[in-house]
Amino acid sequence: RPEETAHGPRTVRAPRGTELSARGWQQDAALRMLMNNLDPEVAEHPEKLVVYGGSGRAARDWWSFDAMVRTLRDLRGDETMLVQSGRPVGVLTTHEWAPRVLIANSNLVGDWATWEEFRRLEALGLTMYGQMTAGSWIYIGTQGILQGTYETFAAVAAKRFGGSLAGTITLTAGLGGMGGAQPLAVTMNGGVAICVECDPSRVERRIEHGYLDVRAGSVEEALRLAVEARDARRPLSVGLLGNAAEVVPELLAMGAPIDVVTDQTSAHDPLAYLPLGVAFADMAAYAAAEPAEFTERARESMARHVEAMVGFRDAGAEVFDYGNSIRGEARLAGYQRAFDFPGFVPAYIRPLFCEGRGPFRWAALSGDPRDIAATDRAVLELFPENESLARWIRLAGERVRFQGLPARICWLGYGERDRAGERFNDMVAAGELAAPLVIGRDHLDCGSVASPYRETEGMLDGSDAIADWPLLNAMVNVASGASWVSVHHGGGVGIGRSLHAGQVTVADGTPLAGEKIRRVLTNDPGTGVLRHVDAGYDRAVAVAEERRMRIPMRED
Ligand code: NAD
Repeated sequence: RPEETAHGPRTVRAPRGTELSARGWQQDAALRMLMNNLDPEVAEHPEKLVVYGGSGRAARDWWSFDAMVRTLRDLRGDETMLVQSGRPVGVLTTHEWAPRVLIANSNLVGDWATWEEFRRLEALGLTMYGQMTAGSWIYIGTQGILQGTYETFAAVAAKRFGGSLAGTITLTAGLGGMGGAQPLAVTMNGGVAICVECDPSRVERRIEHGYLDVRAGSVEEALRLAVEARDARRPLSVGLLGNAAEVVPELLAMGAPIDVVTDQTSAHDPLAYLPLGVAFADMAAYAAAEPAEFTERARESMARHVEAMVGFRDAGAEVFDYGNSIRGEARLAGYQRAFDFPGFVPAYIRPLFCEGRGPFRWAALSGDPRDIAATDRAVLELFPENESLARWIRLAGERVRFQGLPARICWLGYGERDRAGERFNDMVAAGELAAPLVIGRDHLDCGSVASPYRETEGMLDGSDAIADWPLLNAMVNVASGASWVSVHHGGGVGIGRSLHAGQVTVADGTPLAGEKIRRVLTNDPGTGVLRHVDAGYDRAVAVAEERRMRIPMRED
């Protein structure tokens, strides 16, 4: 075995244009998207192969990365590379409809599915944390979550504030890969945001990328800026350097006039949450040296943080868990009222899941932003009746700065994704785009995830922890012709708390790609509708009936 040291960190960026370095577009697309995940514009810590979400990696180590690149370059169109937690472990002969890459990341047998055991195995070099789109090579930077966050805050506005956040203040924390979308999502909805973050480099990065407006030097200054902007009904986002476990209780004690409270620190991984009394500069070394003690202190701090969130709820604010498991961690620290506020999915997103809606996304392998502009126009033409989609596409075109390969995300449902995908493939075939596209999605989708603290919290029939659905979803995508398919454990909410699947399909303009796209982009969201029909949601039943889906248990 060559030494890992022979394969050290370096700067990685996906090739652009139409020249292939692999034997076909499907392999080249996987190669480019793996590299794109590690582009310094995209990844949070590319030198460590960490893409986002705490320690979510694209490859297990640099040695494995090099082996995957080499293998993808000479992989035939009837072969499939198997990836086990970020390491390529085999190449098998399959056929042209089969995925070129099959990925399983971070999976552990139930009784062993704890962070402690996972970290032990990770230290032995046997596994890696794949998060959702890090280890499945379809992370597109902060834009990916921006749209979902925009939709969520729009739903909060619709529920509580007459359709706009104008004249309200939102308090949140965490400006990392996902959390960094919050300030822009709030201002896009007309509101004011105060965002607490302990890492100065994250505050700078969000300002540099245009996601965050200003930085405040103190809690008092942050509040003053926020109140002034709120009173003028002027959108503004304020970054505040500090520990959320300290600042959120402080703001509560001050009686700060906060209307909405949420959080996106990396609470799902207690080793990535800064405990009270620890300097940010000492965090990494302390977590590595004393993981058990650090975990205990982080959980204790999260309990104080969540206690303050509950305090804001008691005071009448709209408070929700934004899918980072902070309630679960706070309860582990003994805080009894941790679940007094809901998760964002049951509160705002589930009705969309019933229609097979979810975070549909695509990236331009040409590297040419004009390809995305052309697809934006195509989406607007295809769905002229969808006003919020049109508003998003327009705002995204103006406000979103591409990171890595140009990409776009929008939420589309069952019966819509396949139409968009086929149109894109036709555009590639007609030479309207400079090169093929990849079409994928987040694992946070309607039918692809079991996650009782997030996507499947509070299911109507109590099926929150039933994990057959993501496995069926992955198998359906393999059977339908996706280009790469992944099954992960622990993404979003942490080890032991979720199972989820993803797919990416290449639109290279060929009739074969068109056939595959039609099936994948119908069946993939279709599993979401089926999952919600089975759980008894009326809206899902209506969608299934309207669109004539076959459901054996309803045919009697
Ligand atoms: P990240 O690791 O990139 O960023 C987390 C940020 O929190 C870091 O910048 C870190 O410095 C900061 N932080 C840690 N402890 C802090 C503290 N005590 N006070 C203030 N700041 C602190 O992670 P991310 O990709 O931004 O994801 C954030 C969380 O959201 C994760 O738990 C992730 O699983 C979850 N998530 C939610 C969704 C969703 O749809 N709602 C989607 C993906 C991820």
